[in-house]
Amino acid sequence: MDFTSGLYHLVLSLKTPQRLDVGSLGRKAFPMGYYVYTGSARRGLIQRLARHLRQEKKCHWHIDALTRVARVEEIVIDVSGTRTECQRHELVMQLPGARMIVPGFGSSDCRCPSHVAYFEQKPSLISQRLDGEPLFRVYTKNQNPRHSRSQGIPA
Ligand SMILES: [Zn+2]
Repeated sequence: MDFTSGLYHLVLSLKTPQRLDVGSLGRKAFPMGYYVYTGSARRGLIQRLARHLRQEKKCHWHIDALTRVARVEEIVIDVSGTRTECQRHELVMQLPGARMIVPGFGSSDCRCPSHVAYFEQKPSLISQRLDGEPLFRVYTKNQNPRHSRSQGIPA
């Protein structure tokens, strides 16, 4: 299994409502809550994720507007190659409480209405297992160390 390419979900938390400039979409309102962004990298997956974690950056993708102000709570990576980014986003939208609030966000290259889902409560991607596929969960900083070992998601 290699980690140079794959799909990923960023679980982001926004502690206060924000109005953000999202490139061509213009200025959009983002309520406080949780956002799950679905993206993909054909190469440089780890570098891509590292960029998402950095708050200091120029806005290149729509998601940059959000990752500059929101906290990345979790990253879920799918390197199984069995789904497309669009299918993965569709699975996220099937989780309880999922809402599409910024049409066009992150989906300039496909026909999806958006690649970001909004949740008032933190969604649980792993417990839902999305569809039982192999997933890796990557914990980011500031989490309880007792839970920081990677979870046994069978590959
Ligand atoms: Zn799509």
